[in-house]
Order: sequence, then C-alpha cells, then structure tokens
Amino acid sequence: MERGINTRCLHLQESEGKVENFGSIAYPIYQTATYAHPGVGKSTGYDYSRLQNPTRENLEKLVATLEGGIDALAFSTGMAAISLLMELFQPGDHLIVDSDLYGGSIRLFHHVSEKNGITFSHIDCYREDVESYITDKTKAIYIETPTNPMMNVTDIEQLSNIAKRHGLLLIVDNTFLSPYFQNPLKLGADIVVHSGTKYLGGHNDTLAGFLVTNRSDISEKFRFFIKTTGSGLSPFDSFLIQRGIKTLGIRMERAASNALEIAKWLKTQRAVTKVIYPGFEEHPGYEIMKKQARGFGAMITFNVERKEFALAILEKVKMIKFAESLGGVETLITYPTTQTHADVPEEIRQRNGITDATLRISVGIEDIEDLINELKTVFEEIEDDLHAGKKLEF
Ligand SMILES: *Cc1c(COP(=O)(O)O)cnc(C)c1O
Repeated sequence: MERGINTRCLHLQESEGKVENFGSIAYPIYQTATYAHPGVGKSTGYDYSRLQNPTRENLEKLVATLEGGIDALAFSTGMAAISLLMELFQPGDHLIVDSDLYGGSIRLFHHVSEKNGITFSHIDCYREDVESYITDKTKAIYIETPTNPMMNVTDIEQLSNIAKRHGLLLIVDNTFLSPYFQNPLKLGADIVVHSGTKYLGGHNDTLAGFLVTNRSDISEKFRFFIKTTGSGLSPFDSFLIQRGIKTLGIRMERAASNALEIAKWLKTQRAVTKVIYPGFEEHPGYEIMKKQARGFGAMITFNVERKEFALAILEKVKMIKFAESLGGVETLITYPTTQTHADVPEEIRQRNGITDATLRISVGIEDIEDLINELKTVFEEIEDDLHAGKKLEF
C-alpha cells in the first residue's frame, strides 16, 4: 500500500533498512564535481556531477514518489526545467498552450521556442474546444491548473483523454498546488513541471525546478538532455529543497486555511471589486477542483476599484512583502501587470482579465490574525486618505 504523502515527504522507502552515510538522518551534501573509479571500466554509479550527484538523485527520487512518476529530474530553476522540456520538440512542431500561464513560460515560448521553429496556439483550455485546434503538427498540450493568476481550472482527466485520442503529450505545470494537493500524472498527464522555488522549497530562499514523468521513453530523453545541457540542480540546493519538502504537508494545509480566511475578508472590503479563489463554492472551477485536487491552494487574485488603490496597497504593506514569487512561508503580494506578467502581450493580458488594478497574494503561514490585521490597517489608511480628499498619486 502506498504510504501517506506526509510520510513520503520524509522517508524514501527504498533506502530503508540500510544504515548508510554513518546513519545520518539528513541526506548528506555530496559537494563534489567528480568521482574516483574503483578500477578500469568500473564505476561507483557516479562519474561526474553534471550527469548525476547522490544528493540530487535522492531529491529526484523523493519528488518522483510525491508525484507518482517513475522519474523526476531536478534543475537549477523552474525555467531551466521548462527549457529542457522544449528540447523534446522539433522545428515545425505545434503546441497548444493555455493562454493564462506563468509569464516566464510565455516569454520562453515566444522568444526562444518560436525562434527554434516551434509554433503555439494560446487558448483557454478550461472553456474552449481544444480538439478544434489540433493539427497534424500538434505534439503536446501544456497547461497550468489553477492558472496563474486568473485561477481558471481545467479538468485534467478530460484533457488527457483528448491528448490520448490524438497521440499528444499532456504537460501540466503543477507549481500552484504542489504534489501535496494535486497529482496530474495520476489523472492522465504525461509530464509534470514544477518550479521547486515555490511550495516544494517553500522558504523563499532557493531556486529549483523539476520535470516528472511516468514514461520511460520520455525519462530517457530527459536524462540525455540534462547531461548534455548541464542545468541540473547543485548538491547544496538539492539539500535545501529536500529539507523544505519535509514540511510540505503542514505548510500547504496552513497556507490554504489562511488563504480561505483572507479571501473571505477581502470580499468584505468596499474597494475590492472581485476576489478569485478556487475554494469559493461560486468559483466556476470549484467542482472540478474538488474532484481532481485535495485542496484549493493558497493563491488569491483580487481586483480593487482602481490602479491607484492597488499601488497604495503595495506601498503600505510592511509585514506582507511586495515581492515576486509565491509558495513560501512568508506572505507575498505581487502586481502581475508589471511583475510576473510584464512580458505577456497586452492583448493576452487583457483577455485574461489582468488589469492594472489586479493584485495577487501568495498566502504564507503567519498567524491569520496578524495577516488580517495588517491588511485591515493598510485598507483603513487608504480609505482614510481618500476620505480626507487626498489624491492617491504615483
Ligand atoms: C515561478 C514559476 C515558474 C518558473 O520557475 P523559476 O523557479 O522561477 O524559474 C514556472 N511556473 C510557475 C507556475 C511558476 O510560478
């Protein structure tokens, strides 16, 4: 029987029953570039750290068990992982990608992959007829769910049926929910992408990325590409991500319960015109989330009445930090228009509903009373300024 995910975050079953590494509970950092061979034609299993390193390998096995894959590869960043993923494709290939994706992924597709002869259709996978965009050149469908930042929810199983019917790969960037809340491979996806910088690492201190698959032909290709291109995660960062993963479950639970409280509180505010959180029953993706995920995550997107109000919030927060990124123990607030989604073409941004009054919160694990208090103070100060006739100028 498969063990629970909290146990899997802590223990690699395959290495149990052996006392290795002097009994060290934490997996050691093998800070080495190369390895001595026991003799000619013999190897310890490690030859050179670009190919593989024991610390990285231990982390990769851990992430593979969390996602239910046969192999996981750890990269220096999430973007390094996605860049390597794109090596699966040839000039002339066509990909269907969701129109609401992490801004860096869209930048990569437009400015690097297209230069290499790959073409893209950006569509709303959660509501459009995906099949009608498939051509004889189409090789894969690439999505996030819930999307960043609009929280659109796509039915992974349904999409995987379409992908299978047409012989396409289904690739899911699972960064937003982490393997704690959602396992796309078990729902029929072929490849899972992670920015390990976010929930897996979880402490806003280390960059990392992952590709996970349950197909041996794909794993073989990835292994060839990682040793050839050299974007594997360093031993020390592999250690840090592994340490972060130990507390993945309790961090995710706490952050998600804080997020629900904050989302509810935001709804009570005069100046807030829209709160998007998939944990609300009225969210269009709520039922699908309940079916395919074990939680709603800790990301909230909301709109305020106008741009100046949004900028004033960013200026006034203190404990909550105005910063890019997400998924860490500290609560961060971002401004998608100029930060995470600055490189997304204006028309796509507008179509997705990202306006200059849209803010995104990555809720951390602080005490909920302190988070609400901070937001309360900030909103009250701005309302007072408005009331006093002060113009919010930037
Ligand atoms: C941050 C992020 C990435 C990119 O990961 P990096 O580690 O910053 O390179 C990719 N996808 C999503 C959904 C992200 O949030």
